[in-house]
Parts: sequence; structure tokens; C-alpha cells
Amino acid sequence: MSRWNDPAAWRGLCDGSSCPVCLRGIALDTIATMEAAWLAMAERAPMPGYACLVSRVHAVELHDLTVAQAEAFMRDVRRTSAAVSAATGAVKLNLEIHGNTLPHLHVHVFPRYIGDRFERGPIDPSQVSEPVYTGNGFAEMRHRILRALESEVT
Ligand SMILES: [Zn+2]
Repeated sequence: MSRWNDPAAWRGLCDGSSCPVCLRGIALDTIATMEAAWLAMAERAPMPGYACLVSRVHAVELHDLTVAQAEAFMRDVRRTSAAVSAATGAVKLNLEIHGNTLPHLHVHVFPRYIGDRFERGPIDPSQVSEPVYTGNGFAEMRHRILRALESEVT
């Protein structure tokens, strides 16, 4: 059940007063602070190289941002897309904006691989329970993405 079925709780998430990102002051698992977004990555992920860009200002929908804010956010999306692509060698990236659970604007960046278990559709993170990284895999992936991000034109 989505939290939007509880109007009072949903209102607090949407207006930011009970938004966990805003209360924390930074996105969970932030690995880089970009122009308009925090780039987050965690070892527990639905796919190797998965990353999430979280707006540094509270907004529910993309159109809640000013044009200038949205342009800056999309510059970060573009940079991250290129960096994740270069770092992972993915055959395709899926970029998704939902916010059904947490209505603080964020973009999921899902690398797609030949033979991945969701090959014929979108990735369903609820169907992934096993680790996607082994050994130092997560630290190495994070390092590759950060290095690729540094080489991207801003
Ligand atoms: Zn927020």
C-alpha cells in the first residue's frame, strides 16, 4: 500500500515537513554532491552499478522545479548517465522517476546487461534479494563511477 493512501502522512512527505531526505539534510548513501543533486549508491542494489540522483531541493514532481533548477538537475542526470554507462559497460541504461514511496524528486539509474534477469521488462528491485556485488565489487564500482564522473564535461 502506498503512503498516499494516508493523506496526512502523504501531505507531510510532499510538503517536506516529514520528508526523510529533508530532515536528514542529505540523501542516504551519498557518494558525490553535484550541481543540483546528490549521487547515491549502496552495496545493497538491484543491479551492479545502480545509482540514484536525489534533488538537493525538495520537489515532488520535476515540474515543481523552476526551469533553471530543472536544467541543472538534468545536467546532473546527463553527467551521471554517461559516467554509469562508461563505468559499467552496460548495454542500456534505464532512467526512472517514480516517487511513489518517497515523494522527494529522485532518478533511478539502472544499468542493463546482456542476460540480466529482467531482460524483457523493467527492473523490479523487490525481486532482488541476493547481493549483486562480491568481495570489493561495490567499492570498485563506486570508484569507477566517481572517476568517470570526474572526466565528464559539466
Ligand atoms: Zn524532501
